[in-house]
Amino acid sequence: MAFSPKTRRYLVIFLLIGWGISLSYFALRSKKPALPGKEAIRFYRDNRLLMGTFWEVISPDKRSSAIVFAEVKRIENLLSKYIEGSEISQLNRTGKLKVSPDTFYIIKKSKEFWQASGGAFDITVAPLADLWGFTNQEHVVPNDDKIKLTLKLVGSDKIILHENDNVVEFKFPGMKIDLGAIAKGLALDCCVKILKENNIDSCLINAGGQVYALGEKSGSPWKVAIQNPRKPEITGVLKLKDKSVSTSGDYEQFFFKNGKRYCHIIDPKTGYPVSSGVSSVTVVTDSGIEADALSTAVFVLGKKSGEELLKKFPRATAKIF
Ligand code: FAD
Ligand code: MG
Repeated sequence: MAFSPKTRRYLVIFLLIGWGISLSYFALRSKKPALPGKEAIRFYRDNRLLMGTFWEVISPDKRSSAIVFAEVKRIENLLSKYIEGSEISQLNRTGKLKVSPDTFYIIKKSKEFWQASGGAFDITVAPLADLWGFTNQEHVVPNDDKIKLTLKLVGSDKIILHENDNVVEFKFPGMKIDLGAIAKGLALDCCVKILKENNIDSCLINAGGQVYALGEKSGSPWKVAIQNPRKPEITGVLKLKDKSVSTSGDYEQFFFKNGKRYCHIIDPKTGYPVSSGVSSVTVVTDSGIEADALSTAVFVLGKKSGEELLKKFPRATAKIF
């Protein structure tokens, strides 16, 4: 199996998290006796390919991974543009659809992030992602006329939400949406809710690089490594408890043409892949959906405007490289 650059990055993160877990595991089995009154804790670890990426679950409760994978699969079946029968694919084909509450909720949230970011975060970039060949991995640099024409289909103000009956409607034929910058975040939040309902209070979920750390690991915050966007090295380690961390950047999915780098995150104003002078943005905050959407939005906006946007989300902190 061939791994994309992004998938390879996830593997690095998996290994690091695994290293932390292994250390605790070995410590518990070392010749040193456990501290009086302290029970040895075993961590269960499992992974699965979902939403086009690796998901990994680490938890002292062996029910956690089954709960997480079932929930992520349920959401993938609703929201994936890569699954023909998903609600998003049906909506993209027909331009009008009565959708489930989860799908309605995420489209509504996406419009809120569009508004808050002054249009930088925009799920209607899907036709542009297709045009640049990011959907089928057949990358091309389109001509300016095609970009201008496609831009007419872009803008979340062109999504009409009928609140009374959960109907989503596009203003123009040919419009499409892509939840690639927000759906993993939603899935993480949904998983955490179900884990809590099952009285599970310690679990680390790694959704292909975006992490949610529920509770603590053996009484201490979970530790997650952040990779340098330009070199294969670690720039720092975050200590997380009940937080999500998401990174968006130009180093995961991109192509080169005539010496220029084109990344998969598109500026909805220009129709071109983002070149904001930033190579990666890492956002830490309370919810997966906010971390996911904000890391993408700040990446599009660049450092100065991105920092302005972050002021509207006081619980979020960010590292911008
Ligand atoms: P993020 O920064 O979080 O998001 C970037 C993505 O958001 C882009 O790839 C694009 O899709 C979209 N985007 C671009 N510009 C903007 C913008 N200005 N505003 C808002 N959104 C923008 N990939 C596969 O190859 N095969 C699959 O089967 C597959 N299934 C998926 C199913 C689901 C439900 C989801 C959410 C994604 C799926 N993917 C699949 C996509 C894959 O995992 C992406 O690589 C991922 O969603 C991109 O996330 P990120 O964290 O790298 O970047
Ligand atoms: Mg995102």
